[in-house]
Amino acid sequence: MGIKENIEEIKSKIPSEVQLLAVSKTKPIEALEEAYAAGMREFGENKVQELLAKEEIFHKDVKWHLIGHLQTNKVKYLVDKVHLIHSLDSIKLLEEIEKVYEKNEKTANTLIQINIGREESKSGILEENLNEFIEAIEECNHILVKGIMVIIPKGNEESNRYYFKKTKGIFDELKCKKFKNISMDILSMGMTNDYMTAIEEGSTLVRVGTGIFGERNYNV
Ligand SMILES: *Cc1c(COP(=O)(O)O)cnc(C)c1O
Repeated sequence: MGIKENIEEIKSKIPSEVQLLAVSKTKPIEALEEAYAAGMREFGENKVQELLAKEEIFHKDVKWHLIGHLQTNKVKYLVDKVHLIHSLDSIKLLEEIEKVYEKNEKTANTLIQINIGREESKSGILEENLNEFIEAIEECNHILVKGIMVIIPKGNEESNRYYFKKTKGIFDELKCKKFKNISMDILSMGMTNDYMTAIEEGSTLVRVGTGIFGERNYNV
């Protein structure tokens, strides 16, 4: 099946209020063009350099999402280029984004990445450090947090559901409270292999790469 057919099939399966993000990392511009022609306007990349290179040459009405870990020294390149940073994962990064966006008199839109599976190999805030992290967010003047992003541990449907539920619990809890700079509008969870489960458990944005563009040549 082609990219257009893949997109149509996914869109027919997911509720209209759930946002489909086309994860185009490693894929050439021609593939993104096909997705664009099929109506996609929001694309996700996991590397700053690749996002910038594609942003420069692609349609200007596209919104770019950074979904991969962000190094502090790269933040300055993202101003005016990125629509949403899904990977706000440390106080150090928070402080750098605040500094860079203040200097540019802009506001960054972000999601808190939570390390819901407590995996050493993954970045993200641990649950027990969330309160401290939120306090730091409230100190900012150039950062808005729009929700939560998670990458769950590899597993079966049952464990996937467990981690999605757990994340939704945190999302709902934060939504009830009122914090400066924080609104819980976006719950970014679910990828090609588990997006339907994620939606059943409350995801509002699914990040689909392989399911749209096919297998990637190398793992990133
Ligand atoms: C690559 C990637 C995806 C998409 O993965 P697929 O399994 O190809 O759908 C989603 N989220 C993040 C953070 C990624 O790095």
